[in-house]
Parts: sequence; C-alpha cells; structure tokens
Amino acid sequence: MTYTQTEQDAVDLSVLQARYPEWRLWRADGGAWMATRADLTDAQTTAGMSPTLMEDTRRALASELAAQALADVHRSMGSECTVTAARDHLRDRRPCCSSAGQRERP
Ligand SMILES: [Zn+2]
Repeated sequence: MTYTQTEQDAVDLSVLQARYPEWRLWRADGGAWMATRADLTDAQTTAGMSPTLMEDTRRALASELAAQALADVHRSMGSECTVTAARDHLRDRRPCCSSAGQRERP
C-alpha cells in the first residue's frame, strides 16, 4: 500500500525542516521518514554523520537528526564527538565528548 501524506505529517515535516534547514525531509512512498543532505565533509562522515536517514517514525527521525546535529555542533567546538556517542548522550545524558553539557540543545 502506498503511503499518502496527511496534513499532520506535512506540519510535522515543516516543523522539523525549520529546525534542521541543512536537511531535505520527506516521507517515502512506503511511509518511512526520510532526510538527506549533500554537504557533508569527510570528517563529518568519519564521525558517523550520514547523508541519508530513514526511520519508521517522526519521533525516530527527530531524535536521529538531533544526534547528528549535536555531534556536528560538538565537532565545530573542537571535540572528537561522534553520532553514536551523541545518540547515547541524548538518550541518558552519558557524556559524549569534552563538549558535552556546554550546549545541550543544538
Ligand atoms: Zn559530544
């Protein structure tokens, strides 16, 4: 069955889109929540940042975008943060790198 976007989905997507302007967001035909960006450097990719995200729910996509953004912010502050560590940090406040706690909300 092909997914048909609802008005609520459109609102949810535009809220996320406003928060993460470097990403292009949409829902796939199968219903997955998608995000893509084309501007990653090799260093960002090495840190676990991905040019394409695919999640089952809006919530999962939002938390993955938050982890990607947090790792990016921490790396721009000079820390060796990774997306994996940032994901753990957002989940249970485990410090992800030396920048953890300096800016919780990217
Ligand atoms: Zn970090």
